[in-house]
Amino acid sequence: MNNSINTTGVVYDKRYLNHRTGNHPECPERLTSIFEYLEEKGVVKETIRIEPYPAPVEFVEYIHNKEYIESVKHRCAIGSVMLDMDTPLSRETYDVALLAVGGVLSAIDAIMNGTVRNGLCLVRPPGHHAMPDRGMGFCIFNNIAIGARYIQKKYKMKRVAIIDWDVHHGNGTQFVFYEDPTVFYCSLHQFPHYPGTGNIHEVGLHKGEGYTMNAPLGAGADITVYRKVFEERFLPAIKRFNPEFILISSGFDAHRDDPLAGINLKSENYGLLTRMIVSLARELCDSRLVSVLEGGYNLNALKSSVYEHLCGLMKTVQ
Ligand SMILES: [Zn+2]
Repeated sequence: MNNSINTTGVVYDKRYLNHRTGNHPECPERLTSIFEYLEEKGVVKETIRIEPYPAPVEFVEYIHNKEYIESVKHRCAIGSVMLDMDTPLSRETYDVALLAVGGVLSAIDAIMNGTVRNGLCLVRPPGHHAMPDRGMGFCIFNNIAIGARYIQKKYKMKRVAIIDWDVHHGNGTQFVFYEDPTVFYCSLHQFPHYPGTGNIHEVGLHKGEGYTMNAPLGAGADITVYRKVFEERFLPAIKRFNPEFILISSGFDAHRDDPLAGINLKSENYGLLTRMIVSLARELCDSRLVSVLEGGYNLNALKSSVYEHLCGLMKTVQ
């Protein structure tokens, strides 16, 4: 049991700043502003710093095909500046993307070896739009999907739940697990909005039917709507699924000040949502929970939302 361990692990590394994106919303300053704010608030010293390592390609291949992985490596090496129309590359991007995946794997390992109770991965580039054969939407490798498979393969856990509260639908993650009854994927997102998927009727296919759940939300939705979706749909469904590990795709672009979307959450609302999931993880899976940073593009909104989220993760609920 992990009950004696009440510490939250935080993955952060300056090398994540080396994914240089120029004048782009997904910029290195996102991470520096978060980390400086967490330091300023005095919470970093109450957490355990988890060192990431570059993920071996064999783990990335759980989700992505070799040709795509090689093409990212090659394009970075020759100095390509864009992977698709909105996904920038720099020379270091390939290495940083492997380090983002490795950050998630390190957090999972730290929980499984009893070092921490749960973990927050402050990584970039984000991942939930990345498809097996292509990156898109600022995402190179699907960090959280690789993490889910790693949990299953390395730790022989059968059922993993992914909760995605980034304001954009995690089309890549949904695609990967759409016919898979061992990974339950649920997402709240603005709809219609980028990337266009995440209709309520997308519920999984074949053996995976019933293991994908979408909550498309109109612009202006607030915490009342989020809470209702959690209480009436997501939490009961996850309890029925009974996961052995819970992952969160934690984008903070549903904040009302975010420039890329029109949802109306406040920073403290992320604390409430976090506490609901922390409580669920305690009930279902010995508190095993890893949160992976996705979007969030207003630096002030992002840093205060991450702070509320981290406080929720650190909270020791008896
Ligand atoms: Zn997003």
